[in-house]
Amino acid sequence: MTCPPGEHVRLFKKLRRKLDYLAPQQIDLIERAYILAFEAHQGQKRRSGEPYITHPVAAACVLADMQMDAQTIMAALLHDVIEDTSVDKQVIIDRFGMEVAELVDGVSKLTQIEFVSRAEAQAENFRKMVLAMSRDIRVILVKLADRLHNMRTLEGMPSNKQQRIARETLDIFAPIAKRLGMREISVELEELSFAMLYPMRYKILKEAVKRARGDRKKILSLIENTLQEGFAKSDLPSAMIAGREKHLYSIYRKMKHRHVPFNEIMDVYAFRIIVDSIENCYRSLGIVHQLFKPVPERFKDYIAIPKANGYQSLHTTLFGPYGLPIEVQIRTTEMDNMATSGIAAHWLYKTNSNDIRESQLRAEQWVKNLLELQQRTGSSLEFIESVKVDLFPEEVYVFTPKGDIKSLPGGATVIDFAYAVHTDIGNHCISAKIDRQAVPLSSSLVNGQTIEIVTSSTARPNPAWLDFAVTSKARSHIRHFLKSQQHSESIELGKQLLKKALSEHSLQLKKLTEEALKNLLEETKLASMDELYSEIGLGHRLPTVVAQQMVGLTEHSDEPVDEKPLAIQGTEGMLIHFADCCQPLPGDPIVGILDSGKGIRVHRESCQHIAKLRRYPDRCMPLRWAEKTEGNFKTTVQVHVVNERGVLAILALAISDAEADIDDIGVEDQDGGMHCIVTFTMHVKSRTHLARVARQLRQIRQVRKISRKGTA
Ligand code: MN
Repeated sequence: MTCPPGEHVRLFKKLRRKLDYLAPQQIDLIERAYILAFEAHQGQKRRSGEPYITHPVAAACVLADMQMDAQTIMAALLHDVIEDTSVDKQVIIDRFGMEVAELVDGVSKLTQIEFVSRAEAQAENFRKMVLAMSRDIRVILVKLADRLHNMRTLEGMPSNKQQRIARETLDIFAPIAKRLGMREISVELEELSFAMLYPMRYKILKEAVKRARGDRKKILSLIENTLQEGFAKSDLPSAMIAGREKHLYSIYRKMKHRHVPFNEIMDVYAFRIIVDSIENCYRSLGIVHQLFKPVPERFKDYIAIPKANGYQSLHTTLFGPYGLPIEVQIRTTEMDNMATSGIAAHWLYKTNSNDIRESQLRAEQWVKNLLELQQRTGSSLEFIESVKVDLFPEEVYVFTPKGDIKSLPGGATVIDFAYAVHTDIGNHCISAKIDRQAVPLSSSLVNGQTIEIVTSSTARPNPAWLDFAVTSKARSHIRHFLKSQQHSESIELGKQLLKKALSEHSLQLKKLTEEALKNLLEETKLASMDELYSEIGLGHRLPTVVAQQMVGLTEHSDEPVDEKPLAIQGTEGMLIHFADCCQPLPGDPIVGILDSGKGIRVHRESCQHIAKLRRYPDRCMPLRWAEKTEGNFKTTVQVHVVNERGVLAILALAISDAEADIDDIGVEDQDGGMHCIVTFTMHVKSRTHLARVARQLRQIRQVRKISRKGTA
């Protein structure tokens, strides 16, 4: 025992006094948690020489002042036992249940993070990470109480440690407290850190403020008296009016970052008026505007439109005596509690008034929704998710398989995540898993998901990705890749088209002289043959026209050149397109149409559109299928059937039995539902494959007729 006997009883009394808002059995549980912590930390001392247990008790007191629930108080008492004593998580689970154990575990994990970087951008990431790591918002509240007490008792620490903790507090924890609307805690954290990090500036500023306040006293009481009298005469005599003092760090920040001179900051007289209802907030506004003239365009209604952290108040600026500005904040008691304790105030409110105002109702509803959600799911993940959505509505947080956090803009998809991890991952991804479930690359991300990307060295970006990539990083990488890909493909295609066109003139590309090529480039005003091929491949120049030009520039050879039509394999990439009007399949006689800027569009020779296009012979070219084609080709088939129960399933089964992939099914009723036309969009390997599918379909009793799209 390092404490004298009875010491542990004395220590608990300090906390016990603050717990009257809880039920007796909850207080018993808290006492049991206290005893466990007391025993676990026995023999340990703080730098100041006090027994260690004073620290968790102090943290618990901070939370009890905010009237937090019993689990949070217990977690505060136990917050250092996993990290610093032999007590493990299982002991806490056994004695106090999973919820308390998870809270303690969450605080321990936060304590383990090293906040190393000083960069502002990095600090923001750390703040978000703290929020994302704390699956239950109460973890943060315990952590803040822990940090507050550590900041209050920094004295005994070695100086470099003091500096590190103060810096971390100013960069990470004070802004988090502010974001959660907990102004009281954030202000105290800022003041303590400021005093520690910049002791001289703190001292000078403090004295300057003290002096200025002395000078201001007369004016301050003049304004205050005017306000008090004005309200006393009004129908709102019970309004609470108080002067507001700016705290030192906020003055310092204003001077430093906004370059406002000290005198100007001190010359603002700030008041707060607290009333009992929203209605009376607006009435008070009327009263102060009658007492002092308002400064135009300085009125803000945060009651109608609350700030992101839930802050509500009316703000107005008035012309005071000698033209000095008076800043006035007007709000209800509940709003004031919210402005002081923020998110913690949600635990504070109990329904005990039959005159419930809208804002209070909304605040209660908010907590109720969150708590209900938490109870319903049994996990607190969604709880923090909903809070986080309120905090960062425009961002989504997901995890890599290793547990790293990535933040992406709202609406981001798996492909954005892949590029956020690494450009190579994006460029080579083929599929993905969200929480171990296979998903398409277009899936939208939801907070808290773990995303795994599957890559393949042969995979390449696909133009369709641009339909769902949201981040500029993903979009620019995909575009860049497609552009260079298209360029090399267009060179290859252009070269083949030119060869083909030259063969009509019994010329061979490889037999052309350097001289002839040089002249050709001069004539076409292009820098290189690659550029010329690319122009042809993209359809900007017609191969027949270029071939004509060449004929004029070179000698004829009499050797007949046997150049076969260009062969289509199905794997050409972005410059060969298959026309949707006739959906050519390997085995169909085909013809190509040059499509300016896009390459070649392949049609079936029987296509109705071709007749029209043949009027531009320069744009038409004979094509053939390669010996071996690869991949699957889109085709659409209409099946006329007798409308019977289950017929759709039978048809679909027959198609997949024939190894075709169905993309889409449409059904259209005929003669009052007796018959129907089922339209299947599917992918097949060839015309023969399609014939096999049709054969399967024809064997079905209900099938009357089968027709292929693009066939007259
Ligand atoms: Mn601690």
